[in-house]
Amino acid sequence: MIQTVGYAASSSSSDLLPFAFERNAAGPFEVEIAVTHCGVCHSDIHQARNEWYNTLYPCVPGHEIVGRVTRTGSQVSRHAVGDTVGVGCMIESCGHCQPCTHGEQNYCSGPNSWLATYNGPVIPAVKARDRQNTYGRENTFGGYSSTLVVHEAFVLKIPAALAPELAAPILCAGVTTYAPLKHWGVKAGDQVGIVGFGGLGDMAAKIARAMGAEVTLFTSTPEKLRAAARMEAHAVLESDRATMQSLAGRFDFMLSTIPQAHDVNPFIDLLKRDATLVVVGALDRLPPVNNQALAFGRKSVAGSMIGNLAETQEVLDFCAKHAIGPQIEIIPMQQINEAFAKVVLGDVRFRFVIDMKSLAEPEPGR
Ligand code: NDP
Ligand code: ZN
Repeated sequence: MIQTVGYAASSSSSDLLPFAFERNAAGPFEVEIAVTHCGVCHSDIHQARNEWYNTLYPCVPGHEIVGRVTRTGSQVSRHAVGDTVGVGCMIESCGHCQPCTHGEQNYCSGPNSWLATYNGPVIPAVKARDRQNTYGRENTFGGYSSTLVVHEAFVLKIPAALAPELAAPILCAGVTTYAPLKHWGVKAGDQVGIVGFGGLGDMAAKIARAMGAEVTLFTSTPEKLRAAARMEAHAVLESDRATMQSLAGRFDFMLSTIPQAHDVNPFIDLLKRDATLVVVGALDRLPPVNNQALAFGRKSVAGSMIGNLAETQEVLDFCAKHAIGPQIEIIPMQQINEAFAKVVLGDVRFRFVIDMKSLAEPEPGR
C-alpha cells in the first residue's frame, strides 16, 4: 500500500480539506506517479458539490494530472521511472465493447462504462438525477493528491517541449475541445465560434487558431475582450444584440463551453447551413431547441465527451508542435477552496493549476 495525502470534500457543502488514504501498489501493468501539477477543471467543482447528482464522498477531484513516474510494474513497457507523464479523465475502460475496440474508450459501452479518474464509473448526470443517486459503487480518488497508480495504457507521454504546469490542463480542457474540432473536420479558413471564455474556451480558441480557423469568442464578461485580441481571435459580448444579429449564418462550427444549462437558440442562428453547434459545457438538460431553425438550415446541435486516448496524446503533441498552451495561474493546494469560488465567479485567467509541492507544506494553523 502507498500512503497518500490529498484534498477531499466530505459532502456537497463542505470545503475540501486534507485527507489521508492508501493506494494499492502498482500491479504488473501499472505505473506509480508522483503528482507534480493538477489543473482545476470546472468539472471538479460540479463533482465536489454533487451538481451531477452522483457524487461519492469523500471526493478527491483532479483529472488534469502531470507527474513523474516513480515505479513501474514488471510488465510495463511504455513508461520508465523518471518520465514526465500525464493522466486525464479516464483510468480504465472495458476494452471489449464496440467503442473500445475502435479506440473510443471515452464512449465505452461496457457494463460499468469508463472508469473516471475520480468518482468511479461514469453515470451521466441526467440518469443519476432520475435515479436519485442510489448507486452503490466503488469510488476513485483523483489528482488532488500526492500519488497516483494507473494502468500504463491510460498514462500519456508529456512532450519535452511542454512545461508540466502547462501540459496539465491539456489533459482535459485541451482534449475536450480538440476532439470535437477534429471530429467535425474544422480546417484552415473555417469560421469557428467558441462560446464561454474560461478554461475550455481558452484552449478551444488556441487549438482552432492553430488548425487555421478564424475564431470568434462569445463571452458574457467585457473584461475578457482584450484577452481574446491577444490570441488573435475576435470577441463578441453575448448581450450585444446588434453584433449577434450581424453574425447570422456565419459559422462553420461552434462549440459551447458554458457550464450550466443555457439557451442555445441564439447560437443556432449564427450557424451556416449544415453546420453544427457542439455543447460540451452543460452536461444536463438544455432548454428546448427551435427545430424550425435547425430544419431550415439542416443544422445540428450535438454533444461530445472528453476525447479518447489517441486524441489525448495527439493534442499534447499538437500543442507542443504549435507552441500553444493554456493561460494559467499557479496556486498551492491550500488555496483550493478560494480557487473554486473564483472559478464559479469567472475570476480566473483562465485555468488554476495546483503546484503539488505545496502538499508537503504544513497546513496554516497546524
Ligand atoms: P470555466 O468556469 O473555466 O469556464 C466557463 C466559462 O463559461 C466562464 O468563464 C464564463 O465565460 C462562461 N459562463 C457563462 N455562464 C456561466 C455561468 N453561469 N457560470 C460560470 N461560467 C459561465 O469552466 P471550464 O472551461 O473548466 O468547463 C466548462 C464546462 O465544461 C464545465 O461545465 C465542465 O464540467 C464541462 N466539461 C465538459 C467536458 C465534456 O467532456 N463534455 C469535459 C470537461 C469539462 P465568459 O466570462 O466568457 O462568459
Ligand atoms: Zn475536466
